[in-house]
Amino acid sequence: MYYNQQVQVQEKPTAAYYMSLIGGIIGLFIGIILLFIIIGIWFIIASIMVLVGAQKLMQEPMEHTKWGVIILVFSILGGGTILIGLIGGILALVYKPIPVGTAQPGQPYAPYGQPLQQPITRICTQCGRVVNENVKFCPHCGKQLP
Ligand SMILES: [Zn+2]
Repeated sequence: MYYNQQVQVQEKPTAAYYMSLIGGIIGLFIGIILLFIIIGIWFIIASIMVLVGAQKLMQEPMEHTKWGVIILVFSILGGGTILIGLIGGILALVYKPIPVGTAQPGQPYAPYGQPLQQPITRICTQCGRVVNENVKFCPHCGKQLP
């Protein structure tokens, strides 16, 4: 007689086997269903966060790093299903906001990237500096302006 050989019994534990089998299969199904529900809910949450991030990005372009990270993180946490969101997040991070009124390269008297405080339209006749068109006296030299 070999030890590995199955020992024959008069009556196999059929009832115990089937009950355990059915119980196990039902448990497996419930687990799979719950898993899908949890994954589904999580995907919805992650997707909403990506949408919120995208919306906030438009509202607060200066905060593009914060919202870009949120879009990026929730796109990744969405299980890679929001790949386009991932690209959106990266684009949000590399985005460079230029405030309205900022001079573009080539425009005189305003270095690139610095917001233009006031409209520059004329030059003082005495000191030659650029002054606001609304001022009556030159803020640099005090000369009365026409
Ligand atoms: Zn002046």
